Amino acid sequence: RPGVHTAGPASLHAGLVRRNPGEPEFHQATLEVLETLAPVLAARPEFVEARVLERLCEPERQIIFRVPWQDDSGAIHINRGFRVEFNSALGPYKGGLRFHASVNLGIVKFLGFEQIFKNSLTGLNIGGGKGGSDFDPHGKSDAEVMRFCQSFMTELHRHLGEHTDVPAGDIGVGGREIGYLFGQYRRITNRWEAGVLTGKGLQWGGSRARTEATGYGNVLFTQEMLKRRGEELDGQQVVVSGSGNVAIHTIEKAQALGAQVLTCSDSGGYVVDEKGIDLALLRQIKEVERGRVGEYAERRGLSATYVPGGRVWDVACDVALPSATQNELDADAARILIRHGVKAVSEGANMPTAPEAVALLKEAGVAFGPGKAANAGGVATSALEMRQNSSREAWTFERTEAELAAIMRGIHDTCAETAERFGRPGDYVAGANIAGFERVAEAMLDQGLI
Ligand code: GLU
Repeated sequence: RPGVHTAGPASLHAGLVRRNPGEPEFHQATLEVLETLAPVLAARPEFVEARVLERLCEPERQIIFRVPWQDDSGAIHINRGFRVEFNSALGPYKGGLRFHASVNLGIVKFLGFEQIFKNSLTGLNIGGGKGGSDFDPHGKSDAEVMRFCQSFMTELHRHLGEHTDVPAGDIGVGGREIGYLFGQYRRITNRWEAGVLTGKGLQWGGSRARTEATGYGNVLFTQEMLKRRGEELDGQQVVVSGSGNVAIHTIEKAQALGAQVLTCSDSGGYVVDEKGIDLALLRQIKEVERGRVGEYAERRGLSATYVPGGRVWDVACDVALPSATQNELDADAARILIRHGVKAVSEGANMPTAPEAVALLKEAGVAFGPGKAANAGGVATSALEMRQNSSREAWTFERTEAELAAIMRGIHDTCAETAERFGRPGDYVAGANIAGFERVAEAMLDQGLI
């Protein structure tokens, strides 16, 4: 039919690269999804006719703003703030804020794009968005972080709302930052709008188990993948990268389920601990002192070694849980993991596994849990926080964790069943992308050309 657009994924992606120059992470994230959607597009020509994919790849709104602030000496700094409101077909924009020196528009777009599918997979009514700044909180005083957050929110608040756009944390944004951001939002708007941010303190509308949720969720997802192969996490040797919120709660849950966790890391290097990571010591250093993992080895004694500049993937393991940042696990690392006989790799971070590494792992028959499915527990629990805020309730830890566990099992089963239905058994990447896409695409069709 004339006027009907029939470009395949390759030419669609070539056009996207032309329209979005200099954004390699966004190109990577979109290509990875587009490559897996052919079977669903063949089965549902109405999606192609309505150009759903082209619309999905173009954010509904992109906000870039100046964030001026003063440090403790009175010197003035100017950072750049971002919020990409990517897709709201399923609900208010939902996704974290990342404060890290590497943040730019392309990174925020990659994260926002992933968030659409991740949020869709939870089965809850949340759209996809992401934001952040190239502000680096490391080494800043509390007062400096507060002034930065206040300046950031002074601009961003006009775009937010509990039914409009609901940010949360990500790298560099934890409970402290959410507190300062919420305080400024409340002051400017004169509204107690608890549901406008998630990851809040427990005394003022936060949800129990939200802090734990991303790491716990990834471990539960991994456990489900292992069960399908007739295995358990109990007794497995696990390597974890990172030492932030996701890594810490990944270690906690993996240990609780009987695994031995050998490693953690930061941008300076990694620690390997033959006796298993001492979580209390790691938390003291990272959460209380805001220190580096190198100090862990110094204080832990003989069982631990610090390898400056090294990568955890060199340590032999049964299960690898990348929980630091994008593209931290490359093809070389994948080859080493395969040589060591790894059974499962599951992404706690967003897109930590480079595309060539994913291909190698899948080819070698390793169970691979893509971040949009495996780390969806964080945002799912954010949605539970919004639900508690709407009803002015505060659930127990047990109830919240039970809901999280049910959601993670649901995501796992949806991915596995979808992969099977489209002839890709065991391929969680295809399963996650297709299932995440189908739900958003149907909503977009129902809602007309917008
Ligand atoms: N930043 C987290 C993610 O990547 C959580 C987002 C949220 O809770 O809104 O999914």
